[in-house]
Amino acid sequence: MKKWYWLAIGFMSVLVSALAFFVATEMPKKNQNLSISTGTCISLGCPENTKFVGSITSNIYHKCNCTFALRIHPENIKCFASASEAEEEGYSPCKFCIK
Ligand SMILES: [Zn+2]
Repeated sequence: MKKWYWLAIGFMSVLVSALAFFVATEMPKKNQNLSISTGTCISLGCPENTKFVGSITSNIYHKCNCTFALRIHPENIKCFASASEAEEEGYSPCKFCIK
């Protein structure tokens, strides 16, 4: 009898932690999608004065709401306060978001 009792408690705690895990992983995802849709430089992990972003793996810079800017891996993102700052570092404007 006692064995079943502990099994039931174990089962319940697995359920509770699975639920907690689900809530913990779903909540940030929703917030992330929300911030991406705003397309601000801050949501990409850049400081407030950022106007353009580039990837350290390419030599193209983008506006922060550009589809390609959103695809840059957060670890590779480079923030620029101005277009001239980006160009000084050897970056070229994106053909899609910067005319
Ligand atoms: Zn772009």
